[in-house]
Amino acid sequence: PRSPSRPEPRPGIMEIAPYVPGRTKSTGGAKLHKLSSNETPLGPSPRAVEAYSACAGHLELYPDGGSTGLREAIADVYGLNPDRMICGNGSDEILELVARAYIGPGDEGLYSEYGFLVYKIAILAAGGTPVVAPEQNLTTDVDALLARVTPRTKVVFLANPNNPTGTYLPFDEIRRLHAGLPPTVLLVLDAAYAEYVRRNDYEAGIELAATADNVLMTRTFSKIYGLAALRIGWGYGPAHVIDALNRVRGPFNVSAASQAAGIAAVRDRAFLETAVAHNDKWLEWVSQEVAALGLEVTPSVGNFVLIHFPEEPGRTAAEADAYLSARGCVLRAVGAYGLPNALRMSIGNEEANREVVSVLKEFLAGR
Ligand code: PMP
Repeated sequence: PRSPSRPEPRPGIMEIAPYVPGRTKSTGGAKLHKLSSNETPLGPSPRAVEAYSACAGHLELYPDGGSTGLREAIADVYGLNPDRMICGNGSDEILELVARAYIGPGDEGLYSEYGFLVYKIAILAAGGTPVVAPEQNLTTDVDALLARVTPRTKVVFLANPNNPTGTYLPFDEIRRLHAGLPPTVLLVLDAAYAEYVRRNDYEAGIELAATADNVLMTRTFSKIYGLAALRIGWGYGPAHVIDALNRVRGPFNVSAASQAAGIAAVRDRAFLETAVAHNDKWLEWVSQEVAALGLEVTPSVGNFVLIHFPEEPGRTAAEADAYLSARGCVLRAVGAYGLPNALRMSIGNEEANREVVSVLKEFLAGR
């Protein structure tokens, strides 16, 4: 073996494909419609902005390391126990803490084919081996996941609704997955888009995280609460899991301003209802209008839709992406997820939604 002449990262690190976020710029167009990262078009609650600004007077002080006030506010609003909760620098951090605490060299982390990209990164960064289960119709296949469980499996990551597909697994299926897993495997229910789901059976998911010994639910303030810039997420599960995650967490992982804004945001239920109603209306409108153009749209319950393009030259996803971008509409190419013929569009404000549909129409008509 050659002797290294410089520091080399641990095995697995160079296998990580760096996460490439959705673009923030268009290549043209008078106005930018950024629909690439599943952010909300309504912004955050004004009360959250006010609480954030009020922190400017105390920037010399470290934040509360345990995010106590934020955990208490979330617990109060959602009817949960704050002692079974951990807050993170986005829910991404909670996912990383899970991998760091439960997965080591020789261990496996399991997820679904089109699952959220961060799972693979977190597993590899922890020194573990990512294992992928194939999907059916862009939807998680519980039997395929269960068939890939081995004695080395430590964690199963499941996004529900899933990003980037927008598909949803009913709770019966989650229960069946949980029942089929050995009690030593931690099931992570990533519910970043939970508030958008009108079927409301994610409540059953949180019930499972509240009662089972091996289920953790993760949630975020980045989507419906409109606080993506502040990086606030939380995890809910058994006390022993929360304890393990707290041991590997950085001491002051959520900033004071983030905690303050999160507390104000979670308490503003009227604002949340407005944001949900906006999404309900425009998710349906966009899905129908895009389908009416002859493009296949995967039925979504999130704040985004996956739009499929034909492989015909002149009409491909890559060409549509470039065309939309030149008109100021920035969508998300999802080739990195193994979906080269699709674009993901976040639901925007009325103007943005109408603009995308009209530009797509033009694109398909061949200008
Ligand atoms: N899980 C899923 C399924 C997501 O789509 C996202 C956001 N892209 C996250 C987790 C992470 O969100 P955040 O770190 O902003 O809380």
